[in-house]
Amino acid sequence: IRYLEGMSSRERIQVGVRCRPAFEHELTAQLRFVPALEFEKTMVHIVPQHSRQFSQRSFAFDYVWPENTTQEQVYEDAIASLVEKAVDGRSVTVLAYGQTGTGKTYTMGFLDATCTAELGVIPRVFEHLFRILDEKCSRIKMSFVQIYMECVHDLLVPPQSPRVDLPVRQDIDRSGFYVEGLEVYDVALLDDARGLVHLAMLNRTLAATSRNATSSRSHTLLTIYILDQENERQISKFCLVDLAGSERTVGGLLVPQATVATIADRELLKTRMNESKFINSSLSALGNVISSMASNNSKPSCSYRDSKLTKLLKGCIGERALTLVIATIDGAVGNLGETLSTLKFAARCR
Ligand code: ADP
Ligand code: MG
Repeated sequence: IRYLEGMSSRERIQVGVRCRPAFEHELTAQLRFVPALEFEKTMVHIVPQHSRQFSQRSFAFDYVWPENTTQEQVYEDAIASLVEKAVDGRSVTVLAYGQTGTGKTYTMGFLDATCTAELGVIPRVFEHLFRILDEKCSRIKMSFVQIYMECVHDLLVPPQSPRVDLPVRQDIDRSGFYVEGLEVYDVALLDDARGLVHLAMLNRTLAATSRNATSSRSHTLLTIYILDQENERQISKFCLVDLAGSERTVGGLLVPQATVATIADRELLKTRMNESKFINSSLSALGNVISSMASNNSKPSCSYRDSKLTKLLKGCIGERALTLVIATIDGAVGNLGETLSTLKFAARCR
């Protein structure tokens, strides 16, 4: 158990909660007329002043980022040190978990930023890496996949090329899993990284549009491979994951309420329900793996096999790796049920 030396679960798994600010129209529609959440440095309190449905509860996290938190603040608090550790040989996973619309993609930085201040985690990680790679004599490669209904698709292919389901195979030494046929690109310049991320986002949007859905129904996994300049040995991996929306069942149906109301097409409804089944099971496999790591149970090998997502993250979660879960919520009273379930998931990860 050498790899556990000096490593507490506290160090291995960190959890932050970020609340996105209300939009103008939400405020005017008075969707959040009652403040339902209160934030402290490391605590989130549920204060359901006028609701009998929820009781007062408090949760503790490593980081709490209230509405007014900037992208830069999130990066400085929790990500910058992970980048430095990755270059020194520790593999890292950063995951964004939460209900659709609460800011996962914004926080991870997959959205086009309108200004530098809006840049999210991914562009900042690349920028940071390129600043320190030279002095460390390392270089990087990257791959980018989407997991949709347990099918793995390469997002770094020419737009509109036919979608191929790539098989996930076990390494010969059984230490982990890999995606057969996945393209891994050299990233020599910051602009190469920007171009590839842009291509991936385009493919992600096209894929979603083609099935009449949004990209919130799939997991997106960007892997940065940090390599030794001289002998090409892999020093570590840095995984950045924008998870599918975590929203739960409504009226016994495994689909968000809005979808049920507007979809006449039964086939599409069936697809939506299937998607939800896959999302639920992969998110719960992920929760199991992370929480068994957090509880200092050193060998959770049993559950990595439960989903493609956890298979692909093996080696980047637990053991010697460092994991940061960013749980995103919004402050709307109407979402308190979802918010509570996100907070519970996040709390279980610690
Ligand atoms: P998700 O990926 O969880 O579905 P998004 O990242 O797409 O959510 O965010 C939904 C909307 O809210 C987007 O328009 C995004 O720009 C905006 N948004 C999210 N978080 C913030 C934030 N912290 N500050 C400002 N706008 C935000
Ligand atoms: Mg999103």
